[in-house]
Parts: sequence; structure tokens; C-alpha cells
Amino acid sequence: MSLDKLHQIFLNSTGVSTDTRNITKGNLFFALSGGNFNGNKFAKEAIEKGASMAIIDDKDFAINEKYILVDNSLKTLQELAKFHRNQLDIPIIAITGSNGKTTTKELITSVLQQKFNTQATIGNLNNHIGVPLTLLSMTTETEIGVVEMGANHQKEIEFLCTIAQPNYGYITNFGKAHLEGFGGFEGVIKGKSELYDYLIKNNLAIFINLDDKIQVEQSKNGKVISFSETALKSNYQIKLHEVNPFVSINTNNLRIQSRLIGLYNAKNIAAAISIGLHFKVPLKDIKTAIENYTPTNNRSQIINKNGNYIILDAYNANPTSMEAALKNLNAISKNNKTVILGDMFEVGNTSELEHQKIIDLLEEYNFSEMLVCGTHFYQAKSTKVKKFKNYEALADYLTQHRYQENTILIKGSRGMQLERALDLL
Ligand code: ATP
Ligand code: MG
Repeated sequence: MSLDKLHQIFLNSTGVSTDTRNITKGNLFFALSGGNFNGNKFAKEAIEKGASMAIIDDKDFAINEKYILVDNSLKTLQELAKFHRNQLDIPIIAITGSNGKTTTKELITSVLQQKFNTQATIGNLNNHIGVPLTLLSMTTETEIGVVEMGANHQKEIEFLCTIAQPNYGYITNFGKAHLEGFGGFEGVIKGKSELYDYLIKNNLAIFINLDDKIQVEQSKNGKVISFSETALKSNYQIKLHEVNPFVSINTNNLRIQSRLIGLYNAKNIAAAISIGLHFKVPLKDIKTAIENYTPTNNRSQIINKNGNYIILDAYNANPTSMEAALKNLNAISKNNKTVILGDMFEVGNTSELEHQKIIDLLEEYNFSEMLVCGTHFYQAKSTKVKKFKNYEALADYLTQHRYQENTILIKGSRGMQLERALDLL
């Protein structure tokens, strides 16, 4: 079937679904297969639940004319998304980076939403499936798209760019995340910069933080729109006011008070403000958007519990975000600070070194109490930091201790599930 014809079918559907658990009547179902599951097996159920048609790539599952047989369902989904994007005459802003993509994407979306019908990545759907689904969620009503792009190896962002064909891009940061897949930190820089490379090649605009040396270096041949804390030559000057513990910033003599903690969020907010200003969203509306934005799902959530002030950042961790979180805790103007950290995964062969660095940083900061758990942290050398071999040992300790009027940071890799500690505090 030609892409043109498939696109017509898509336009007549109520949207795309890849999961029979949340199918809506009239959806166009794509049977995607993974390592150990065959999506074609679900096509029949999809049709029974009301899907208008099912795209499948195994002829044995083609029952009637509602089943469209293609060579590869995933490839077809990606090609359809690219075709659809080509029909949309709108600017698309792509966001990648090691940390802060979702937060920045959501801040940008809140800001642009003040003036435009903005369609953005839902949640964290940022990969080779999520990006096509995001593009296919855009309609003729959409005026601007914001697309989060995630990657854990080279050429992934380049590929996602060929589908989304962004007109603008911003890289939140280059951090020590997915070091294994990228081949070290240099690999991360190269891999994430594929977004800037794509934009430079097509003579399109790049948003950068002029205070970030790597961003400046990687965008040097591009059409740059910049923000900075101080540099007068930047397009927008956006300054951190304070972190107490929520980040507030100043721009054009206006104070914007966010509901976000974390020094790093000053940059995420600055990016959203610059993009808003570039698209001529009035500054007062930008202020409203940022001041009303509250993060969800374990990403730097603030919880008041039993007289303690808990910063729950247990969604993920890598050396860069861990360091940033500790720096931030240190910057908060409160007494009695406690850290509860779990191992960082996917760090590769520098794992031992990176865990030791975090312990060394902790010893330098010298918070009231410093607890770490997991086999990697356990092996590091420490004098003041209390180490626990696994979560269970930490949990035993927490059960026997009561904290009061403490500011407590909880952070670790997803696999550590450190949010469990919350119940013990
Ligand atoms: P994922 O890879 O899961 O999609 P993400 O890049 O979308 O992650 P967020 O979910 O926005 O990132 O934030 C995850 C964590 O990264 C935050 O809780 C915080 O610790 C850290 N972080 C956020 N912004 C930055 C930044 N600009 N620089 C460094 N670290 C950051
Ligand atoms: Mg994300």
C-alpha cells in the first residue's frame, strides 16, 4: 500500500494505537513486535476492541481486509509519521540531552501553549516509537510541535531527526548518562550533537546556553539563538535569583518564581523563556506558565512528611544528575540535611571511579547524615558516609531512625527503587 493511501486511512482514523490495553474506537492499530513478543498476535483483539484497521507484518495473521500487511510494522509507523510531518507546515522544536529533557519539554510546552495550539511528546515517549507517535498526534489544528528525543547510542538522534524534521533544537546538557552505549563522555557529546548537526546542515536555528562551553563548541557553525546569565552578546539574559529551595529567576526586571527545585532547573527554565520570547509569547504569559508548572512522577518532587522536607528524585540517576542534586542540596538555605543515595547503573567501566567521586563530594559537603546503598557505593572508600550493601540493609537502618526537621534528598537509579524509603521516613 502506498504511504499516501495509508495516510488517508490514518486521517480517517481516531489516531494511532500500539497497545490493545488502551485502544480507542476507530484507532489505527500498529502491531509492533519486540524481542520476546509478537505484536501481530494482538491484531485480532485490537480489531475486536474497535480498531478501524490493523497494520501487521506477518501474513499468517491477515484475516480480512481490515488487516494491512506490510514488510515491517515499525518501519511503516516511522515512515507514516515522517509523511505526516511533511504535510504539517508548522515549526517543530526538538529537545534532547542527557538530563532534563522532559522537564524542559514540559516547560517549553506550557510557555508556548499560552499563545499557540502546541502539541508535545506525552510523558517520556521519546524513542524510535515515541517520536513517530508524537508526530502522529499532531493535527491541522496544531501550530507548534515540541518533540523530546532520547538516545542511548550513536546515530539515534540523527535517525529521529529524519522523521521529525525539526526546525529548531535545544540540547539540555551533555552528561555522564548511558556511557556504555555511547562509548564514553566524548561519545555522549557526539551522539547528542547529532541534533545540532542536523540543524546546522539544514541552516536551521539552534537554541543554546552561552554559559555552557560544550554547547557553544558544538553549535559553532550554526544559526544560534542564545541565552546566558551574564553575557551581553546573548539574545536573552536570564539570571538565577535564588534556590530556596524553589528556583526563582530574573529577566527583563521581572522575577519568575518556579515550583521547581534544583539549580539545574534554572537552565531548563531559561531555555523555556528564551524559546517563548523567540516565538513572541508575552513575558507576563511566560511568567504565568512557568509559575504554574508543577512536576510529577518522582522527578524532583517535594514531599512534606512527618516534619521533614523530602526531595524525592528517585526516578533516575547518573554521575551528572547525582552531582547536580548534591550541589543543589548544598545550595538550599536550610539546616539538617540528609542524603539517601542508591547506586547509579549503566555507568560502564568508569563505574567504580564515578561512585567514588560521589562519595568524595559527599565527604566534602558534610551533610548531617549521608547514607548510600548498593554494591557499587558499598565498594567505595569513605570515612563519614554510611554504606549499606543493599536496599534492605538501608531499610533496616531507616526503620530504627527518626528524622525531624530534616531536608532529605532521595536519589538513585530506577532499578534501586529508592522511593520505597519514603514509607520509612
Ligand atoms: P529521561 O532520560 O528519563 O527521559 P530526562 O532527560 O527527560 O530523562 P527529566 O526527567 O526532565 O530528564 O529529569 C531527570 C533528572 O535529571 C532530574 O530529576 C534532575 O535530577 C536531572 N536534571 C534535570 N535537568 C537537568 C539539567 N539541565 N542538567 C543536569 N541535570 C538535570
Ligand atoms: Mg524524559
